[in-house]
Amino acid sequence: MTQAAAPRSRRKTAAVRIGHITVGGDAPVVVQSMTNTDTANALATARQCADLARAGSELVRITVNSEEAARAVPEIRQRLDSMGVNVPLIGDFHFNGHKLLTSVPECAAALAKFRINPGNVGKGKKRDVQFATMIELACRYDKPVRIGVNGGSLDQDLLARMMDDNARRPQPLDGAAVIREALVASALESAQRAEELGLGHDKIILSCKVSGVQELIALYRELSSRADYPLHLGLTEAGMGSKGIVASTAALAVLLQEGVGDTIRISLTPEPGGDRRQEVIVAQEILQTMGLRAFTPMVIACPGCGRTSSTYFQELAQQIQSYLRQKMPEWRSQYAGAESMTVAVMGCVVNGPGESKNANIGISLPGTGEVPVAPVYEDGVKTVTLKGDNIAGEFQRLVEAYVQRKFSQ
Ligand code: SF4
Repeated sequence: MTQAAAPRSRRKTAAVRIGHITVGGDAPVVVQSMTNTDTANALATARQCADLARAGSELVRITVNSEEAARAVPEIRQRLDSMGVNVPLIGDFHFNGHKLLTSVPECAAALAKFRINPGNVGKGKKRDVQFATMIELACRYDKPVRIGVNGGSLDQDLLARMMDDNARRPQPLDGAAVIREALVASALESAQRAEELGLGHDKIILSCKVSGVQELIALYRELSSRADYPLHLGLTEAGMGSKGIVASTAALAVLLQEGVGDTIRISLTPEPGGDRRQEVIVAQEILQTMGLRAFTPMVIACPGCGRTSSTYFQELAQQIQSYLRQKMPEWRSQYAGAESMTVAVMGCVVNGPGESKNANIGISLPGTGEVPVAPVYEDGVKTVTLKGDNIAGEFQRLVEAYVQRKFSQ
């Protein structure tokens, strides 16, 4: 299936290498995530990093907030390597990053990138010195840096200075515009300072995250027009459940459609005991539904209505989606291209045959009052009609056979 309208071509940026992953340049938009374990617990953190990486996170960020956490980083790296998980690790530093990176050099060496928040590196003169220390360590260990500005921790000295400047203007800007300008200036001035300290232009990624959708769009439009650093995109503190997913998608889709954004993270708040991998799946689904990348075959399923009175149709759609996600790691190495296919699971004869014909493979289940048979279509042609108690199992086998036949090297 082709997308009706392709996103605007990506904005040109420098290409930044983070371990074996490239962000920016001609590289596809990269999916990243962040752990929520205590980094000092190396075993738990390594396990979660591995889970996120296996779910498709191409970069994983871990907080490095204490001496214990910094000392755990090399062990986390070793544990991942021994599991065969080579995902690059990014260290997230606030307040004491200069101390931790200096006192635990093995931490600096084991990380693939540092994230520095210019609003949280210290105040006054200390700020410049501590920022310089971190940049010098990035240069020494040849690590790229994300200068990650955040609306909740904007450099207050910079904001005060800009508010004062604004007040002296003949026609002052409104407060929101000054804050936006301060966020962008914080990122750009910090990047410029990092380059003056010796960090390569191709070692810098920028982000300016806020929690409002319209504000995020306005910010990144501004930022992207003023520098060619690759941009890390994400709506910070997106929230829980559907609200977090919808808000993130609304913001990121607009920017990605405009060619802005080189790596994305979806900052969802998991429900208690929830699955951290959801943020990876959502990031992949945003990119795949927009036609920017392909990760896992997409299931096209109708919402169901009064014509689908049993839960059988929903169960089959869910079963097929889980099956495709579970099979994909194996298919990725054997059946290149399978990740781009579409599988339709439709609830009745109204739209079922049509959507099934448009998909690579599709099934149209019987709605209420229809003859209890389920025609299957492959590449637009009806191939078989399933009936009986095991339609789900038989359809799964047909999908497997289709993948083997169609995507064998
Ligand atoms: S395809 Fe049929 S079951 Fe599905 S929403 Fe449309 S009318 Fe309802």
